[in-house]
Amino acid sequence: MRRGFKAEAKRLALELRAELGLDADCPFDPYAFADEYGIRVVRLSELDGPGRDYFLKRDGSALSGALIPIVTGVAILENDAQPDVRRRTTMSHELAHVVLEHEFGVSLADERKCGLGGAQEEEADWLSGELLIPYDGALRLARANATDADAAGVFQVSLAVARWRMNHSGARTVVERTRSKWNGARR
Ligand SMILES: [Zn+2]
Repeated sequence: MRRGFKAEAKRLALELRAELGLDADCPFDPYAFADEYGIRVVRLSELDGPGRDYFLKRDGSALSGALIPIVTGVAILENDAQPDVRRRTTMSHELAHVVLEHEFGVSLADERKCGLGGAQEEEADWLSGELLIPYDGALRLARANATDADAAGVFQVSLAVARWRMNHSGARTVVERTRSKWNGARR
């Protein structure tokens, strides 16, 4: 990942959330975001044709989401047969690619990865994480000793995404470090 990108993503996510009237402590709304930016969202269940049933497998082995070029820009194709928390992550990932002006025509099969690979993939993954659970929100939860399940509930994400953000955003590390410093000082 490019140097400085994480700090940039942290700021950018807060700005993008603020534009929707969202602070760092509430769930992200990828659908309101897409609407605000005029990004069309196409649900697989709305499509006809032989490809539809193939893509609609609930186990997610086929497709979660994809960016598809359209005349006016880009649309997000999403697999609405998947659970809501998964759809929110998929949507946020694809939106991150749009915001970061990445190439499109990519599809997302794994919860947090699509076929694009390399730096663009890492950046979209990281920015979508900041959109779903901003660092500031994760930090407040870490201070309150929130579990991964608490974080998943507050931000309406899967347990896996909550665990990833609580452990890798740096929030828990910062809180633990501060506490051990305090404990050391009191001795
Ligand atoms: Zn991707």
